[in-house]
Amino acid sequence: MSVFGLPDRAYELQRAVRAFVDGTVIPAEDGTLARNVDRLDEVCSELRRKARTAGVFAPDLWEQWKGSRLGWQVRHLVLEEVGRSPLGAGALHCAPPDMPNIDLLAAVANPEQRVRYLQPLINAEVRSCFAMTEPTPGAGSDPSMLKTTARLAGRRWVINGHKWFISGAIGARFAIVIATTDSGPTMFIVESTNPGWRIQRSLRSLDSHQLGGHAEIRIVDCIVDDECRLGETGKALVYAQMRLEPARLAHCMRMVGRAQRVTELAQQYLRRRQSFGSPLAELQNVQTLVADSHIDLYAARLMTWHVAAKMDAGESVKQDSAIAKVFVSEAVCRIADRAVQLAGASGTLVDEPIGQFFQEVRPFRIYDGASEVHRAAIGRRVLRSSHELADLDPLLMQG
Ligand SMILES: Cc1cc2nc3c(=O)[nH]c(=O)nc-3n(C[C@H](O)[C@H](O)[C@H](O)COP(=O)(O)OP(=O)(O)OC[C@H]3O[C@@H](n4cnc5c(N)ncnc54)[C@H](O)[C@@H]3O)c2cc1C
Repeated sequence: MSVFGLPDRAYELQRAVRAFVDGTVIPAEDGTLARNVDRLDEVCSELRRKARTAGVFAPDLWEQWKGSRLGWQVRHLVLEEVGRSPLGAGALHCAPPDMPNIDLLAAVANPEQRVRYLQPLINAEVRSCFAMTEPTPGAGSDPSMLKTTARLAGRRWVINGHKWFISGAIGARFAIVIATTDSGPTMFIVESTNPGWRIQRSLRSLDSHQLGGHAEIRIVDCIVDDECRLGETGKALVYAQMRLEPARLAHCMRMVGRAQRVTELAQQYLRRRQSFGSPLAELQNVQTLVADSHIDLYAARLMTWHVAAKMDAGESVKQDSAIAKVFVSEAVCRIADRAVQLAGASGTLVDEPIGQFFQEVRPFRIYDGASEVHRAAIGRRVLRSSHELADLDPLLMQG
């Protein structure tokens, strides 16, 4: 049993995942995989085969663990290890958007949808995407600006709209699309073979290792049966929130893993690189930068773990997960920036892990809710609360 009350078995699992990431995933890293959607798919498929053989393929683990999905604290251990490599989450099949889509489908899909979409997704036989964001004047931070429409024609829906930044869209078998209906925003499952689902272009974002890239999509007179409606009409934003909370927490976990790795790489550089007659590691200014990164790492890891523990306890994490997302996304940017600085010119190579992470981490302050949007919500909730301490965790109020 650990200080966090997790069983030894959880740490055995963490060690197994770490060994697989160190021994198999990190050696497969290759700067030329960046934004190369086809090669990334090939390399991750091969790594998944190896992960199954090594007994660390995520969905297999979920099933072994007391016959159900892993709890969030155990996922934390796994996802932090997986996050140490940009290929890790794809290799173990716990990458977004598939992982949060699995959570969403498991909660909302009807029996037929579970067979047709959820099971193949769990088995990694197919990939999926989640299509909510639209270019101006459509929905971004403000989902009420949704412009994509779904009109009922008999027992079928006709969807029209324009989406962009849809991660994983290239090569996905299906998309979970949010469109507005007479009853409000509603989710639909749209298969990528539908002639109305048109990938317009692949977007080259700062992050470079997204399976299926990011795409701009036109949805043109896209006809789907009512059986493709996911959940109830008018409930899409409730379901999106259900999906987003765990999704952003999982992102925090993977990002902490990457931040830990780039800090270690910078430290290795400091020990071997000499300047003015001594290793860089012996210079006090350099030690201060390293210390600041470890302070950020410690706080980011603890916040993430605390939200995970509350989720496992079935408690509301609305406020905590927003606070953790803002802090972790900004802390990992600071850590990445320090790692570049400490590693000198070598830290700026975009085909190497430090430079890659520096680029990749920046969009995290925008997706899953921009920092400013979260800050506004955090402050609003605190100030609307009738009791000054109402939003504090009961743990902090004891004694
Ligand atoms: C790498 C990446 C992957 C993504 N993947 C997906 C995906 O798979 N599916 C999907 O649907 N979307 C995806 N997105 C889109 C993402 O969800 C949106 O970028 C995000 O919701 C913000 O919307 P926006 O880009 O339109 O920014 P805008 O809404 O135009 O906001 C721009 C900026 O204005 C400020 N701002 C906005 N509103 C407020 C407010 N209320 N208070 C204070 N400041 C505010 C913030 O600084 C914000 O960053 C992805 C984005 C990125 C970068």
